[in-house]
Amino acid sequence: VSSELSAELLNRFAAIVGVRNTLGSNDDLTHYTHENRGYVVGDTKLVLKPKTCEEVSLILKLANSTGTTIVPQGGHTGHMGGGVPLKELNSIVVSTERMNKVLDVDLIGNTLTVEAGVILENIQNLAAENDRLFPLALGAQGSCMIGGNISTNAGGTGVLAYGNTRDLVMGLEVVLPNGEIWDGLNRLRKNNTGYDLKNLFVGAEGTLGIITAAVIKLFPAPAGREVAWAGFSSVKTALAFFQSAKAKADNQLTAFELVPRIGIDYLLKHFPKFPDPLENNHTWYGLIEITSGRSIEDARHLTEEIFEAGLEAAIVEDAALASNIAQQQLFWQMREELPNSQRPEGASISHDISVPLGKVPELIERGEALVVAVVPGARMVAFGHLGDGNIHFNFSKPVGMDDADYMAFREQVNAVVFDLVLELGGSVSAEHGIGLFKRDVLERVKSPTEMTMMHQIKQMFDPNGIMNPGKVLNRLPDQS
Ligand SMILES: Cc1cc2nc3c(=O)[nH]c(=O)nc-3n(C[C@H](O)[C@H](O)[C@H](O)COP(=O)(O)OP(=O)(O)OC[C@H]3O[C@@H](n4cnc5c(N)ncnc54)[C@H](O)[C@@H]3O)c2cc1C
Repeated sequence: VSSELSAELLNRFAAIVGVRNTLGSNDDLTHYTHENRGYVVGDTKLVLKPKTCEEVSLILKLANSTGTTIVPQGGHTGHMGGGVPLKELNSIVVSTERMNKVLDVDLIGNTLTVEAGVILENIQNLAAENDRLFPLALGAQGSCMIGGNISTNAGGTGVLAYGNTRDLVMGLEVVLPNGEIWDGLNRLRKNNTGYDLKNLFVGAEGTLGIITAAVIKLFPAPAGREVAWAGFSSVKTALAFFQSAKAKADNQLTAFELVPRIGIDYLLKHFPKFPDPLENNHTWYGLIEITSGRSIEDARHLTEEIFEAGLEAAIVEDAALASNIAQQQLFWQMREELPNSQRPEGASISHDISVPLGKVPELIERGEALVVAVVPGARMVAFGHLGDGNIHFNFSKPVGMDDADYMAFREQVNAVVFDLVLELGGSVSAEHGIGLFKRDVLERVKSPTEMTMMHQIKQMFDPNGIMNPGKVLNRLPDQS
């Protein structure tokens, strides 16, 4: 694979979508070539923006017959470098941004059928306009696209009650690497007919084909919603409160996000519009959301009951309930801006990891000690989806250290963190996927049997290795 991409071949690709729907070497390609956090810069001679599944099919047919490598892209907000066209591979980028039609709204079956390039926030809004909820929610929702969400099996803040993206997908339309179109737009809640092919493409990060459309699940819109900050003295008490809240509210507990005091300090420093959530400082904070399908009052009563119990048991030190919708949104904005508030503090070594719920306090306590032993002064900013055992285990550089000097410790820091995660029975990638950055780690954490099955699946769908090579899997030694 990886042909030379002659001008003649580039023209043949461009003709499929029409020249005005392409970008080339004379255009600003930064959005398509640069990984969004700046960790890696790729290169491409051509970005194609197909409008239809048939155009995608023609692109892949031509790519397959000419050995041209293809990198699919949605919003290009992925955190693992999966959408970056690698310089050495001469890849063409296929962006789904023009494939943004809603194909069907089924309010009886509670499904939406959408093209891959529909922006997540537009799906959330469409659901809300129809008195429904699409529960996938993440910081990049204004620019990431449903095809990218499905391809990364994105997590986010709604997983606690509604599951990962995988749990929200009922059917897919996919163009296979040979250009064949698979119409798997299943809308049945029950369909037990053989292998679950759709799930092979969920989380495949563009290595098995291009998702062009999907059937996704809708849920009833909550009638009442409460959002509150809670203060805790330790991760242990935060976890105890989570368990108590979960026992009382079950799936009405729709979010439980952990935030450390240093995260609040960063937010107050870099986003002056944000308030300090509670009167006094606390070591840890929880952003908690409780909803009710029945009424506003029901959500309020349940929330009060949960917080009264937490305060009485002295596991919650203090709490503040948002008093109106605007304040609820402000509380959520604070959580969403947390990664951005870390940026001005300089380089960060970050990990998207999960451990069994009961091990979260141990992960954080031991993990901090291990990392600080490698880089004295490293500032732990551990936050995220406590209820899922998924912590964004980030470390800002020590104050005053040069960014590059700090990043030189990255491998060492990753090693101690991943060793601990594995010892605790966790995962080295909880929700961001593998992409480019974790493909070597994948080989370490998967058994030889698992790696063989994954390579066989890749080989079966994509024998010529044209789909996003170098992502998720290292190529086998016999592949050039
Ligand atoms: C501020 C911020 C907050 C974030 N928060 C979260 C979070 O809470 N949880 C979480 O899981 N992630 C989070 N992310 C990461 C990212 O937003 C998700 O991974 C998202 O699902 C990626 O969607 P995208 O459209 O940007 O995909 P892209 O980045 O364009 O692509 C991601 C991968 O999927 C492939 N791909 C894209 N579209 C297709 C397609 N149609 N067919 C086949 N392959 C395709 C690409 O080749 C690439 O490998 C966050 C990112 C940012 C910037």
